[in-house]
Amino acid sequence: MEEVDLLIKHGKILTQNSEDRIINDGIIAINDNTILDLGNFKDMEGLYEGEKRINAQNKLIIPGLVNTHTHLAMNLLRGFGEGVPLQKWLDDYIFPVEEKFVNEEFVYLGSVLAGLESIKYGITSVVDMYYFEDKVAEALKKIGLRGVPSYSILDKSTPDSNNPEEAISNAKNFIKEWKNDELITPGIAPHSIYNTSEDLLLKTKKMSDKFNIPLSIHLAENKREVSEVKDRFGYSPVNYLDKIGILDSNVIAAHCVHVNDEEIKILKNSGTNVAHCPISNLKLSSGISPVGKMSNKGINVSLGTDGSASNNNLNLWEEIKTSILLQNIKCKEHNFNVSDTFFMSTGGGAKSIGLSQELGSLEEGKLADLVVLNSSSLEWFPCYNVKSNLVFSINGCDVEYVIINGKIVYENGEFKTIAKEEIIEKSRRIVEKVESFSGNKKH
Ligand SMILES: [Zn+2]
Repeated sequence: MEEVDLLIKHGKILTQNSEDRIINDGIIAINDNTILDLGNFKDMEGLYEGEKRINAQNKLIIPGLVNTHTHLAMNLLRGFGEGVPLQKWLDDYIFPVEEKFVNEEFVYLGSVLAGLESIKYGITSVVDMYYFEDKVAEALKKIGLRGVPSYSILDKSTPDSNNPEEAISNAKNFIKEWKNDELITPGIAPHSIYNTSEDLLLKTKKMSDKFNIPLSIHLAENKREVSEVKDRFGYSPVNYLDKIGILDSNVIAAHCVHVNDEEIKILKNSGTNVAHCPISNLKLSSGISPVGKMSNKGINVSLGTDGSASNNNLNLWEEIKTSILLQNIKCKEHNFNVSDTFFMSTGGGAKSIGLSQELGSLEEGKLADLVVLNSSSLEWFPCYNVKSNLVFSINGCDVEYVIINGKIVYENGEFKTIAKEEIIEKSRRIVEKVESFSGNKKH
């Protein structure tokens, strides 16, 4: 009998492997950060002894979810300036507050809180795009969440850099520092075409090539962006990025709401990944992305919550459900089904961050990022189709264990890495300052 670090017995395992195998009474043996073995309980009984054991009877085990577009620290701005139209919200609320309050402490605390909220919903990897990304990386390490903190590059001064040159140099140092970390994949994030000059876009692309890291960008999010970019450059946003040579398989293009058939072809041929953020797109009245069509054409599509300031939570299960409902209207003819939808949150996410060999499915030799759901709750009964229940019925309320890189980070409502009360207490002081600065008192 072989001794392993963690043994999960008797669960139903949704592997999400290429054959879409489901094991009804399964066993998973985890050693260090890796799935050493998995299979039918009756075939493997007696092979392994676990130092830590989980009895997963009446539970479902799934690969961890991947949130491929968010701004974690914006958790501290959740609900701030609610009900104000987009441009006024940005100009009068978000930008001034970010300028005054976003510092290392704000980013660290906000990212810890957002990271914990992510874990609670079974998210095991996040792609962040904000400022002070070294603090985001520290926060993720502290709570044991895998992630791609991506350094924001804009044409103007930002909370972490006095000018774009400084931002580029900070980003380089950040990438070098975190390049070989087992939980962190550093990324680069030119904000958008309208906020990042061509010269800067090319510099970020060079960095992405050199270090082979993800490049995140907001793309074709709303009509205003499309017409602004067309006016300034003579091309649509996707065409423009293609023209200057930015698009490739390292790119995670967030939103892609307003893309036509020709642009879909460009995204496909370049291998660009699309991060679909349906709730943020609805909340900000941006539109409905044609992800059914994009996925049907072979584009890798994943899901993102966007930041808590435009969602207003990090529950990716809401994106899962909303995305399929929207495609029922938008791309009916492409028959976008529950399997395609759930894949976006697992394998699609893993591919977007360049880790499809390591993550996205439960298989021998892959990293042990997985979620154990209690499947005996009312929402689970009956279960004619596991994926139908996952996509439409459960809304993330049944997460019992979250295991990331082989470590249990969440168990029955408790975070194993940090005391959240202390972080909330420290964050409260920041929230009070934001409130008094804006006069945005609670109603
Ligand atoms: Zn965003």
